[in-house]
Amino acid sequence: MRKILLAILPFAATVAIAQKEEPNVRFGNLITAQALKEKLTVIASAEMEGRETATPGQKKAAAYIEEQFKRMGLKPGNGDSYQQYYPVYQDELVGKSLSVNGKQFEWDKDFNLSLSTILSGKYNYNNTVFVGYGLDDAANKMADYDGLDVKGKIVIALDGLPDGYKPTTPAIQGGRGFGGPGSVNAKALTARSKGAAGILVVTKDFPKAMPTATKGNMYLQKNTNPAFVSGTISEEVASALLGRTFKMSSAQLKETNKGNYIAELKINAEKNTEELQSSNVLGVLEGTDKKDEYVFLTGHYDHLGKRGDVIWYGADDDGSGTTSVLQMAEAFTAAAKKGHKPRRTIVFMTVSGEEKGLWGSQYYSEHPIFPLDKTSVDLNTDMVGRIDTERKTADTNNYVYVIGHDKLSSDLPVINEGVNNKYTKLTLDYKYDDPKDVNRIYFRSDHYNFARKGVPILFFYD
Ligand SMILES: [Zn+2]
Repeated sequence: MRKILLAILPFAATVAIAQKEEPNVRFGNLITAQALKEKLTVIASAEMEGRETATPGQKKAAAYIEEQFKRMGLKPGNGDSYQQYYPVYQDELVGKSLSVNGKQFEWDKDFNLSLSTILSGKYNYNNTVFVGYGLDDAANKMADYDGLDVKGKIVIALDGLPDGYKPTTPAIQGGRGFGGPGSVNAKALTARSKGAAGILVVTKDFPKAMPTATKGNMYLQKNTNPAFVSGTISEEVASALLGRTFKMSSAQLKETNKGNYIAELKINAEKNTEELQSSNVLGVLEGTDKKDEYVFLTGHYDHLGKRGDVIWYGADDDGSGTTSVLQMAEAFTAAAKKGHKPRRTIVFMTVSGEEKGLWGSQYYSEHPIFPLDKTSVDLNTDMVGRIDTERKTADTNNYVYVIGHDKLSSDLPVINEGVNNKYTKLTLDYKYDDPKDVNRIYFRSDHYNFARKGVPILFFYD
Protein backbone atom coordinates (compact mmCIF):
# COMPACT_ATOMS: atom_id res chain seq x y z
CA MET A 1 0.00 0.00 0.00
CA ARG A 2 1.44 3.30 -0.93
CA LYS A 3 1.54 6.44 1.08
CA ILE A 4 -1.89 7.81 1.68
CA LEU A 5 -3.07 10.98 0.07
CA LEU A 6 -4.06 14.11 1.84
CA ALA A 7 -7.55 15.40 1.35
CA ILE A 8 -7.74 17.02 -2.01
CA LEU A 9 -10.87 18.95 -2.65
CA PRO A 10 -11.50 22.56 -1.77
CA PHE A 11 -13.82 22.05 1.17
CA ALA A 12 -11.42 19.61 2.78
CA ALA A 13 -9.54 21.63 5.32
CA THR A 14 -6.35 19.91 6.41
CA VAL A 15 -6.13 21.80 9.67
CA ALA A 16 -8.77 23.09 11.96
CA ILE A 17 -8.53 26.80 11.49
CA ALA A 18 -11.28 28.44 13.44
CA GLN A 19 -12.25 28.48 17.06
CA LYS A 20 -15.89 28.30 16.17
CA GLU A 21 -15.79 26.11 13.12
CA GLU A 22 -17.92 26.72 10.09
CA PRO A 23 -19.90 23.63 8.99
CA ASN A 24 -17.80 23.22 5.85
CA VAL A 25 -14.66 23.07 7.97
CA ARG A 26 -16.26 20.80 10.57
CA PHE A 27 -17.62 18.31 8.04
CA GLY A 28 -14.67 18.72 5.70
CA ASN A 29 -12.56 17.48 8.60
CA LEU A 30 -14.25 14.09 8.21
CA ILE A 31 -11.96 13.64 5.24
CA THR A 32 -9.01 12.15 7.05
CA ALA A 33 -6.08 10.03 5.95
CA GLN A 34 -7.34 7.24 8.20
CA ALA A 35 -10.85 7.20 6.71
CA LEU A 36 -9.47 7.25 3.17
CA LYS A 37 -7.05 4.48 4.00
CA GLU A 38 -9.80 2.24 5.37
CA LYS A 39 -11.79 2.48 2.14
CA LEU A 40 -8.79 2.25 -0.16
CA THR A 41 -7.63 -0.87 1.67
CA VAL A 42 -10.88 -2.54 0.59
CA ILE A 43 -11.04 -1.16 -2.96
CA ALA A 44 -7.42 -2.02 -3.77
CA SER A 45 -7.53 -5.38 -1.97
CA ALA A 46 -6.68 -8.71 -3.56
CA GLU A 47 -10.35 -9.67 -3.27
CA MET A 48 -11.23 -7.03 -5.88
CA GLU A 49 -8.78 -8.64 -8.31
CA GLY A 50 -7.73 -5.37 -9.92
CA ARG A 51 -11.35 -4.41 -10.81
CA GLU A 52 -11.16 -4.99 -14.54
CA THR A 53 -14.33 -3.92 -16.36
CA ALA A 54 -16.95 -6.66 -16.80
CA THR A 55 -15.17 -9.11 -14.50
CA PRO A 56 -16.18 -10.45 -11.06
CA GLY A 57 -13.65 -8.07 -9.42
CA GLN A 58 -15.35 -5.02 -10.94
CA LYS A 59 -18.75 -6.30 -9.78
CA LYS A 60 -17.45 -6.79 -6.23
CA ALA A 61 -16.10 -3.25 -6.20
CA ALA A 62 -19.44 -1.92 -7.49
CA ALA A 63 -21.26 -3.83 -4.73
CA TYR A 64 -18.92 -2.35 -2.10
CA ILE A 65 -19.44 1.20 -3.37
CA GLU A 66 -23.21 0.68 -3.49
CA GLU A 67 -23.18 -0.61 0.09
CA GLN A 68 -21.24 2.48 1.20
CA PHE A 69 -23.65 4.85 -0.57
CA LYS A 70 -26.60 3.08 1.10
CA ARG A 71 -25.00 3.20 4.52
CA MET A 72 -24.42 6.94 4.17
CA GLY A 73 -28.06 7.46 3.22
CA LEU A 74 -27.54 8.54 -0.38
CA LYS A 75 -30.48 7.83 -2.69
CA PRO A 76 -30.05 5.46 -5.62
CA GLY A 77 -29.01 7.39 -8.71
CA ASN A 78 -30.77 5.34 -11.36
CA GLY A 79 -34.43 4.90 -10.42
CA ASP A 80 -34.48 2.21 -7.74
CA SER A 81 -30.95 1.14 -8.55
CA TYR A 82 -27.57 2.47 -7.53
CA GLN A 83 -26.08 1.07 -10.71
CA GLN A 84 -26.36 2.10 -14.32
CA TYR A 85 -25.60 -1.07 -16.26
CA TYR A 86 -24.19 -1.02 -19.77
CA PRO A 87 -23.28 -3.80 -22.17
CA VAL A 88 -19.76 -4.54 -23.37
CA TYR A 89 -18.83 -7.14 -25.94
CA GLN A 90 -16.09 -9.67 -26.46
CA ASP A 91 -15.43 -11.77 -29.55
CA GLU A 92 -14.06 -15.26 -29.76
CA LEU A 93 -12.88 -16.99 -32.91
CA VAL A 94 -14.31 -20.48 -32.46
CA GLY A 95 -13.68 -21.71 -36.00
CA LYS A 96 -10.90 -20.76 -38.41
CA SER A 97 -9.34 -22.42 -41.44
CA LEU A 98 -7.29 -21.41 -44.46
CA SER A 99 -6.50 -23.45 -47.57
CA VAL A 100 -4.69 -22.70 -50.83
CA ASN A 101 -5.42 -24.88 -53.86
CA GLY A 102 -7.01 -27.44 -51.55
CA LYS A 103 -4.08 -27.61 -49.12
CA GLN A 104 -5.11 -26.89 -45.52
CA PHE A 105 -2.76 -24.76 -43.44
CA GLU A 106 -2.67 -24.69 -39.65
CA TRP A 107 -3.53 -21.84 -37.30
CA ASP A 108 -0.37 -20.50 -35.57
CA LYS A 109 1.86 -22.71 -37.72
CA ASP A 110 1.10 -20.90 -41.00
CA PHE A 111 -1.58 -18.28 -40.47
CA ASN A 112 -3.42 -16.01 -38.06
CA LEU A 113 -6.52 -13.87 -38.47
CA SER A 114 -7.37 -10.64 -36.72
CA LEU A 115 -10.60 -10.95 -34.74
CA SER A 116 -11.57 -7.33 -34.79
CA THR A 117 -12.59 -6.85 -38.43
CA ILE A 118 -13.53 -10.31 -39.68
CA LEU A 119 -17.13 -11.57 -39.53
CA SER A 120 -18.31 -15.17 -39.54
CA GLY A 121 -18.36 -16.46 -43.09
CA LYS A 122 -16.74 -18.37 -45.93
CA TYR A 123 -14.34 -16.26 -47.98
CA ASN A 124 -13.45 -17.82 -51.33
CA TYR A 125 -11.21 -16.30 -53.99
CA ASN A 126 -9.72 -17.54 -57.27
CA ASN A 127 -6.95 -14.99 -57.31
CA THR A 128 -5.13 -12.55 -55.05
CA VAL A 129 -3.12 -9.39 -55.72
CA PHE A 130 0.48 -9.04 -54.58
CA VAL A 131 1.14 -5.40 -53.56
CA GLY A 132 4.79 -5.50 -52.45
CA TYR A 133 5.02 -3.69 -49.11
CA GLY A 134 1.49 -2.37 -49.58
CA LEU A 135 2.48 1.25 -48.92
CA ASP A 136 0.85 4.41 -50.16
CA ASP A 137 3.12 7.20 -49.00
CA ALA A 138 3.78 10.16 -51.26
CA ALA A 139 6.58 11.52 -49.03
CA ASN A 140 8.57 8.35 -49.63
CA LYS A 141 7.46 8.01 -53.26
CA MET A 142 5.82 4.70 -52.37
CA ALA A 143 2.69 3.96 -54.42
CA ASP A 144 2.40 0.18 -54.26
CA TYR A 145 -1.23 0.16 -55.38
CA ASP A 146 -0.66 2.19 -58.55
CA GLY A 147 -2.04 0.43 -61.59
CA LEU A 148 -3.53 -2.44 -59.54
CA ASP A 149 -7.23 -3.22 -59.27
CA VAL A 150 -7.73 -4.61 -55.78
CA LYS A 151 -11.47 -3.93 -55.42
CA GLY A 152 -13.16 -6.83 -53.61
CA LYS A 153 -9.94 -8.86 -53.61
CA ILE A 154 -7.49 -10.12 -51.01
CA VAL A 155 -4.08 -8.45 -51.23
CA ILE A 156 -0.81 -10.07 -50.18
CA ALA A 157 1.78 -7.69 -48.67
CA LEU A 158 5.31 -8.02 -47.36
CA ASP A 159 5.92 -7.37 -43.68
CA GLY A 160 7.68 -4.22 -42.44
CA LEU A 161 9.28 -1.53 -44.57
CA PRO A 162 11.73 -1.58 -47.49
CA ASP A 163 15.40 -0.65 -46.93
CA GLY A 164 15.99 3.09 -46.91
CA TYR A 165 12.38 3.93 -46.10
CA LYS A 166 12.10 6.94 -43.82
CA PRO A 167 8.79 6.84 -41.94
CA THR A 168 7.05 10.20 -41.84
CA THR A 169 4.73 9.03 -39.06
CA PRO A 170 5.98 7.87 -35.65
CA ALA A 171 8.06 4.78 -36.28
CA ILE A 172 7.79 2.62 -33.23
CA GLN A 173 10.06 -0.43 -33.47
CA GLY A 174 11.30 0.64 -36.86
CA GLY A 175 7.82 1.18 -38.15
CA ARG A 176 6.48 -2.32 -37.42
CA GLY A 177 5.06 -1.40 -34.04
CA PHE A 178 1.40 -0.71 -33.39
CA GLY A 179 0.16 1.96 -35.76
CA GLY A 180 3.59 2.46 -37.40
CA PRO A 181 3.55 2.53 -41.22
CA GLY A 182 5.06 -0.97 -41.42
CA SER A 183 2.51 -2.50 -39.07
CA VAL A 184 -0.22 -4.90 -40.17
CA ASN A 185 -2.77 -2.38 -38.86
CA ALA A 186 -1.51 0.46 -41.03
CA LYS A 187 -1.27 -1.78 -44.09
CA ALA A 188 -4.80 -3.07 -43.47
CA LEU A 189 -6.10 0.51 -43.35
CA THR A 190 -4.41 1.30 -46.65
CA ALA A 191 -5.77 -1.88 -48.28
CA ARG A 192 -9.25 -1.10 -47.02
CA SER A 193 -9.06 2.45 -48.34
CA LYS A 194 -8.22 1.01 -51.77
CA GLY A 195 -11.35 -1.14 -51.71
CA ALA A 196 -9.67 -4.50 -51.00
CA ALA A 197 -11.71 -7.22 -49.25
CA GLY A 198 -8.77 -8.12 -47.05
CA ILE A 199 -5.03 -8.30 -46.54
CA LEU A 200 -2.66 -11.12 -45.66
CA VAL A 201 0.77 -9.93 -44.54
CA VAL A 202 3.70 -12.33 -45.02
CA THR A 203 5.84 -12.64 -41.89
CA LYS A 204 8.70 -14.78 -40.68
CA ASP A 205 6.97 -15.08 -37.27
CA PHE A 206 5.69 -18.60 -37.99
CA PRO A 207 5.31 -21.06 -36.36
CA LYS A 208 4.24 -19.01 -33.33
CA ALA A 209 6.26 -19.60 -30.18
CA MET A 210 3.16 -18.95 -28.04
CA PRO A 211 -0.44 -19.79 -28.97
CA THR A 212 -2.36 -16.77 -30.21
CA ALA A 213 -5.34 -15.80 -28.08
CA THR A 214 -8.60 -16.46 -29.88
CA LYS A 215 -10.55 -14.21 -27.53
CA GLY A 216 -10.38 -10.56 -28.47
CA ASN A 217 -10.35 -7.41 -26.39
CA MET A 218 -13.64 -6.17 -24.98
CA TYR A 219 -15.32 -3.32 -26.78
CA LEU A 220 -18.18 -0.93 -26.12
CA GLN A 221 -19.80 -0.38 -29.48
CA LYS A 222 -20.61 -3.09 -31.98
CA ASN A 223 -18.78 -2.95 -35.27
CA THR A 224 -21.20 -2.14 -38.07
CA ASN A 225 -18.56 -2.03 -40.82
CA PRO A 226 -18.59 -4.73 -43.51
CA ALA A 227 -16.22 -7.64 -42.96
CA PHE A 228 -12.55 -7.13 -43.73
CA VAL A 229 -10.20 -10.10 -43.65
CA SER A 230 -6.91 -9.20 -42.00
CA GLY A 231 -4.23 -11.66 -41.02
CA THR A 232 -0.66 -12.81 -41.28
CA ILE A 233 0.65 -15.78 -43.25
CA SER A 234 3.90 -17.73 -43.41
CA GLU A 235 6.27 -17.61 -46.40
CA GLU A 236 4.95 -21.06 -47.26
CA VAL A 237 1.35 -19.86 -47.61
CA ALA A 238 2.51 -16.79 -49.55
CA SER A 239 4.50 -18.98 -51.94
CA ALA A 240 1.44 -21.14 -52.63
CA LEU A 241 -0.71 -18.04 -53.23
CA LEU A 242 1.91 -16.69 -55.62
CA GLY A 243 1.71 -19.90 -57.65
CA ARG A 244 4.95 -21.53 -56.47
CA THR A 245 5.28 -25.18 -55.52
CA PHE A 246 8.35 -24.50 -53.35
CA LYS A 247 8.83 -22.20 -50.37
CA MET A 248 10.25 -18.89 -51.56
CA SER A 249 12.98 -17.17 -49.58
CA SER A 250 12.45 -13.66 -48.19
CA ALA A 251 14.73 -12.31 -50.92
CA GLN A 252 12.69 -14.05 -53.61
CA LEU A 253 9.46 -12.71 -52.14
CA LYS A 254 10.88 -9.18 -52.19
CA GLU A 255 11.73 -9.52 -55.87
CA THR A 256 8.29 -10.81 -56.84
CA ASN A 257 6.41 -8.62 -59.30
CA LYS A 258 3.29 -6.87 -58.13
CA GLY A 259 0.02 -7.91 -59.75
CA ASN A 260 -2.58 -10.68 -59.99
CA TYR A 261 -1.78 -14.28 -59.07
CA ILE A 262 -4.05 -17.24 -59.70
CA ALA A 263 -4.64 -19.55 -56.75
CA GLU A 264 -7.73 -20.81 -54.96
CA LEU A 265 -7.87 -19.26 -51.49
CA LYS A 266 -10.52 -20.38 -48.99
CA ILE A 267 -10.85 -18.85 -45.53
CA ASN A 268 -13.54 -19.88 -43.06
CA ALA A 269 -14.20 -17.93 -39.90
CA GLU A 270 -16.71 -18.48 -37.15
CA LYS A 271 -16.89 -15.74 -34.58
CA ASN A 272 -19.00 -15.68 -31.41
CA THR A 273 -19.78 -12.42 -29.69
CA GLU A 274 -20.45 -12.56 -25.98
CA GLU A 275 -22.39 -9.78 -24.30
CA LEU A 276 -20.96 -8.84 -20.91
CA GLN A 277 -22.06 -6.23 -18.43
CA SER A 278 -20.43 -3.44 -16.51
CA SER A 279 -21.80 -0.52 -14.50
CA ASN A 280 -21.46 2.97 -13.13
CA VAL A 281 -22.44 3.38 -9.47
CA LEU A 282 -24.44 6.49 -8.55
CA GLY A 283 -25.57 7.86 -5.20
CA VAL A 284 -27.54 11.10 -4.90
CA LEU A 285 -27.80 13.78 -2.22
CA GLU A 286 -30.73 16.05 -2.96
CA GLY A 287 -30.15 19.78 -2.91
CA THR A 288 -32.34 22.55 -1.54
CA ASP A 289 -33.25 25.72 -3.48
CA LYS A 290 -31.35 24.64 -6.61
CA LYS A 291 -32.06 20.93 -6.40
CA ASP A 292 -32.82 20.74 -10.15
CA GLU A 293 -29.21 21.54 -10.88
CA TYR A 294 -26.58 18.86 -10.50
CA VAL A 295 -22.99 18.75 -9.32
CA PHE A 296 -21.18 15.54 -10.28
CA LEU A 297 -18.25 14.18 -8.30
CA THR A 298 -16.63 11.39 -10.28
CA GLY A 299 -13.77 8.91 -10.20
CA HIS A 300 -13.29 5.60 -11.98
CA TYR A 301 -13.30 2.45 -9.88
CA ASP A 302 -12.09 0.04 -12.58
CA HIS A 303 -8.45 -0.84 -13.13
CA LEU A 304 -6.47 -3.33 -15.22
CA GLY A 305 -7.42 -6.56 -13.45
CA LYS A 306 -5.03 -9.48 -13.60
CA ARG A 307 -2.28 -10.51 -15.99
CA GLY A 308 -1.98 -14.22 -15.37
CA ASP A 309 -1.85 -14.53 -11.60
CA VAL A 310 -0.50 -11.03 -11.05
CA ILE A 311 -3.06 -8.55 -9.74
CA TRP A 312 -2.80 -4.92 -10.84
CA TYR A 313 -4.23 -3.38 -7.67
CA GLY A 314 -4.74 0.16 -8.92
CA ALA A 315 -4.54 1.80 -5.50
CA ASP A 316 -3.51 5.07 -7.11
CA ASP A 317 -5.28 4.60 -10.47
CA ASP A 318 -7.98 5.13 -9.51
CA GLY A 319 -8.58 3.64 -6.08
CA SER A 320 -7.46 7.03 -4.79
CA GLY A 321 -10.11 8.94 -6.76
CA THR A 322 -12.85 6.42 -5.93
CA THR A 323 -11.96 6.69 -2.26
CA SER A 324 -12.02 10.48 -2.55
CA VAL A 325 -15.55 10.40 -3.99
CA LEU A 326 -16.68 8.06 -1.21
CA GLN A 327 -15.17 10.19 1.51
CA MET A 328 -16.63 13.38 0.07
CA ALA A 329 -20.00 11.60 0.14
CA GLU A 330 -19.32 10.79 3.79
CA ALA A 331 -18.70 14.46 4.59
CA PHE A 332 -21.67 15.80 2.61
CA THR A 333 -24.14 13.25 4.00
CA ALA A 334 -22.96 13.89 7.56
CA ALA A 335 -23.46 17.63 7.01
CA ALA A 336 -26.92 17.05 5.47
CA LYS A 337 -28.00 15.00 8.50
CA LYS A 338 -27.21 18.03 10.66
CA GLY A 339 -29.27 20.29 8.41
CA HIS A 340 -26.45 21.58 6.22
CA LYS A 341 -27.67 20.46 2.84
CA PRO A 342 -26.10 21.50 -0.46
CA ARG A 343 -28.06 23.94 -2.60
CA ARG A 344 -27.60 21.85 -5.76
CA THR A 345 -28.17 18.11 -5.94
CA ILE A 346 -24.87 16.26 -5.70
CA VAL A 347 -24.43 13.08 -7.74
CA PHE A 348 -21.56 10.89 -6.55
CA MET A 349 -20.72 8.71 -9.53
CA THR A 350 -17.97 6.15 -9.74
CA VAL A 351 -17.60 4.80 -13.25
CA SER A 352 -16.05 1.71 -14.79
CA GLY A 353 -14.53 1.13 -18.22
CA GLU A 354 -12.11 4.05 -17.89
CA GLU A 355 -9.03 1.96 -18.54
CA LYS A 356 -10.68 0.50 -21.66
CA GLY A 357 -11.27 3.95 -23.13
CA LEU A 358 -13.51 6.06 -20.85
CA TRP A 359 -16.45 3.72 -21.52
CA GLY A 360 -18.51 4.24 -18.36
CA SER A 361 -18.49 8.01 -18.63
CA GLN A 362 -19.06 7.79 -22.38
CA TYR A 363 -22.10 5.60 -21.76
CA TYR A 364 -23.37 7.96 -19.08
CA SER A 365 -22.90 11.03 -21.29
CA GLU A 366 -24.89 9.30 -24.05
CA HIS A 367 -27.54 7.97 -21.64
CA PRO A 368 -27.65 10.69 -19.00
CA ILE A 369 -29.93 10.12 -16.02
CA PHE A 370 -29.91 13.79 -15.02
CA PRO A 371 -30.16 16.44 -17.75
CA LEU A 372 -26.72 17.45 -18.96
CA ASP A 373 -27.88 21.02 -19.56
CA LYS A 374 -28.75 21.18 -15.86
CA THR A 375 -25.45 19.65 -14.82
CA SER A 376 -23.44 22.56 -13.46
CA VAL A 377 -20.08 20.86 -13.21
CA ASP A 378 -18.21 17.59 -13.12
CA LEU A 379 -15.35 17.46 -10.62
CA ASN A 380 -13.30 14.42 -11.53
CA THR A 381 -10.43 12.88 -9.60
CA ASP A 382 -8.11 10.33 -11.16
CA MET A 383 -4.87 9.39 -9.43
CA VAL A 384 -4.50 11.62 -6.43
CA GLY A 385 -2.02 9.33 -4.71
CA ARG A 386 0.71 12.00 -4.70
CA ILE A 387 3.28 10.26 -6.79
CA ASP A 388 5.43 12.72 -8.67
CA THR A 389 8.78 12.62 -10.35
CA GLU A 390 9.57 16.18 -9.25
CA ARG A 391 7.92 16.54 -5.85
CA LYS A 392 9.42 13.98 -3.55
CA THR A 393 9.52 15.48 -0.09
CA ALA A 394 6.74 16.08 2.38
CA ASP A 395 7.05 19.86 2.12
CA THR A 396 6.51 19.78 -1.65
CA ASN A 397 3.68 17.23 -1.64
CA ASN A 398 0.87 19.61 -0.80
CA TYR A 399 -0.23 20.13 -4.40
CA VAL A 400 -2.63 18.94 -7.05
CA TYR A 401 -2.69 19.37 -10.81
CA VAL A 402 -5.81 21.16 -11.98
CA ILE A 403 -6.96 20.69 -15.54
CA GLY A 404 -9.75 22.26 -17.56
CA HIS A 405 -10.33 25.09 -15.11
CA ASP A 406 -11.21 27.93 -17.48
CA LYS A 407 -12.09 25.97 -20.61
CA LEU A 408 -15.87 25.94 -20.31
CA SER A 409 -16.62 28.21 -17.39
CA SER A 410 -15.10 31.47 -16.23
CA ASP A 411 -16.69 30.94 -12.78
CA LEU A 412 -14.87 27.72 -12.00
CA PRO A 413 -11.32 29.05 -11.57
CA VAL A 414 -12.60 31.83 -9.33
CA ILE A 415 -14.61 29.44 -7.14
CA ASN A 416 -11.89 26.80 -7.03
CA GLU A 417 -9.08 29.20 -6.20
CA GLY A 418 -11.23 31.16 -3.75
CA VAL A 419 -12.18 28.08 -1.75
CA ASN A 420 -8.67 26.68 -1.94
CA ASN A 421 -7.13 29.92 -0.71
CA LYS A 422 -9.58 30.08 2.17
CA TYR A 423 -9.52 26.47 3.34
CA THR A 424 -7.37 23.84 1.72
CA LYS A 425 -4.33 25.87 0.67
CA LEU A 426 -2.94 23.39 -1.79
CA THR A 427 -0.57 24.46 -4.52
CA LEU A 428 -2.79 24.34 -7.60
CA ASP A 429 -0.52 23.38 -10.47
CA TYR A 430 -1.82 24.20 -13.97
CA LYS A 431 1.11 22.56 -15.76
CA TYR A 432 -1.09 20.09 -17.67
CA ASP A 433 -3.91 22.51 -18.39
CA ASP A 434 -2.44 23.66 -21.70
CA PRO A 435 -4.45 21.98 -24.52
CA LYS A 436 -1.19 21.81 -26.48
CA ASP A 437 0.54 19.82 -23.73
CA VAL A 438 1.85 16.62 -25.29
CA ASN A 439 0.43 14.49 -22.46
CA ARG A 440 -3.11 15.55 -23.48
CA ILE A 441 -4.36 14.99 -19.92
CA TYR A 442 -7.56 16.94 -20.70
CA PHE A 443 -8.68 14.08 -22.94
CA ARG A 444 -7.56 11.22 -20.75
CA SER A 445 -10.07 10.77 -17.98
CA ASP A 446 -13.81 10.70 -17.47
CA HIS A 447 -14.40 14.45 -17.13
CA TYR A 448 -13.73 14.61 -20.87
CA ASN A 449 -17.07 12.94 -21.64
CA PHE A 450 -18.81 15.71 -19.69
CA ALA A 451 -16.68 18.43 -21.31
CA ARG A 452 -17.43 17.22 -24.82
CA LYS A 453 -21.13 17.60 -24.01
CA GLY A 454 -20.54 21.15 -22.82
CA VAL A 455 -20.58 20.50 -19.06
CA PRO A 456 -17.91 22.56 -17.25
CA ILE A 457 -15.30 20.38 -15.58
CA LEU A 458 -12.39 20.48 -13.21
CA PHE A 459 -10.01 17.58 -13.18
CA PHE A 460 -7.80 16.88 -10.16
CA TYR A 461 -4.80 14.69 -10.77
CA ASP A 462 -1.20 14.30 -9.77
ZN1 LIG B 1 -7.20 6.52 -14.21
